[in-house]
Amino acid sequence: MPEGPLVRKFHHLVSPFVGQQVVKTGGSSKKLNPTSFQSLWLQDTQVHGKKLFLRFDPDEETVSLHNSPLSEPLRKGEQKDKARNHQEASDPSSRSPGGDSAVPSGDDGLQCMGGDTPAGGAERWLQVSFGLFGSIWVNEFSRAKKANKRGDWRDPIPRLVLHFSGSGFLAFYNCQMAWRFSSPVVSPTSDILSEKFHRGQALEALGRELPVCYTLLDQRYFSGLGNIIKNEALFRARIHPLSPGSLLGLPRLEALVDHVVAFSADWLQGKFQGTQQHTQIYQKEQCPAGHQVVKESLGPPGGFQRLTWWCPQCQPRLSADEPKQVQPS
Ligand SMILES: [Zn+2]
Repeated sequence: MPEGPLVRKFHHLVSPFVGQQVVKTGGSSKKLNPTSFQSLWLQDTQVHGKKLFLRFDPDEETVSLHNSPLSEPLRKGEQKDKARNHQEASDPSSRSPGGDSAVPSGDDGLQCMGGDTPAGGAERWLQVSFGLFGSIWVNEFSRAKKANKRGDWRDPIPRLVLHFSGSGFLAFYNCQMAWRFSSPVVSPTSDILSEKFHRGQALEALGRELPVCYTLLDQRYFSGLGNIIKNEALFRARIHPLSPGSLLGLPRLEALVDHVVAFSADWLQGKFQGTQQHTQIYQKEQCPAGHQVVKESLGPPGGFQRLTWWCPQCQPRLSADEPKQVQPS
């Protein structure tokens, strides 16, 4: 297995592709169907120890057309994690002797690729572990260096090939790949479903001049918050998605965080009980009050644009001179 430094080099090779969309796929992997990467956006890459992590987000248009995100199954890894954490918290002696260090991952994860889940709309990571001769090649394929026993000069076959919108491609050789549905490094204080979720830190982030709909998807403060939760919490708090947080005032920001936490917790509970979470604004044409809903792709300049639904009447836009403490009637 390549040591950490080599994996860091792979990380360095992959980094320029962050922010690009997969436009063509190839490779021999049977565990991960290479075509399932089609249209995904590479959003981040991290290296931890000897493992490389690549975060992919689905294309918004594909999601709305082909999937009903709320019917997606809960990620098994997440469930396992929750159960384990709960178990450890309530009774440390019940821990299994060997410990359960398995990384949440598996083929089943691909079923979730299309949609947001309560704790991870934006958190789908491909975990790559390299074999002894594992490697990543950029814009070229590995070639045979010598003939095999039968005298054939056969080039190695990549497990996965990803062609990106910027016209380059990555080829992965001799590696094991699995999906995981939590960030490789999530602090519980930024995890919206954790009891340790730090509201103060979240409120401070929201209070900046940035539109609140950008900050909500910032995984540093709202780990696990995906596009559905963003839309629903903003609607329930009656806040226009592009409102600069600095104009909203603390009570309204607190209400927004309350809705984020409540909606996510309800959703997770519903997943365990097999019920579907009810949305009021996400992918709707009318709000519950019967107003026409507006849909637009919103995101930071040059960043990933996410489809956003809001009701211009229930979520009026703030003007800069509006007093901060105004509550909508
Ligand atoms: Zn409305």
